[in-house]
Amino acid sequence: MSHNSVVKCPHCGYFQSEYLDEGIIVLHWRCPGCGALVEPEEGDCCVYCSHGSEKCLQAQRAAGLDLSTLGDGAPAPEK
Ligand SMILES: [Zn+2]
Ligand SMILES: [Zn+2]
Repeated sequence: MSHNSVVKCPHCGYFQSEYLDEGIIVLHWRCPGCGALVEPEEGDCCVYCSHGSEKCLQAQRAAGLDLSTLGDGAPAPEK
């Protein structure tokens, strides 16, 4: 599990390391380079999953699960 993801702007290529907060879904990331508002691509849950070097913690956790447990929706978030 990685808690840092380098988000890269699809517009200008600027990249910045961001800390992945537990339980927080980042849907908007303001690029410090060009000021564009970066959003997840269709099918991805958050900016990190689309544009980050590491996916968000939820996705990392899901990827670590046995494949047989997938298929009936996302795993219940831990609170
Ligand atoms: Zn940019
Ligand atoms: Zn995600």
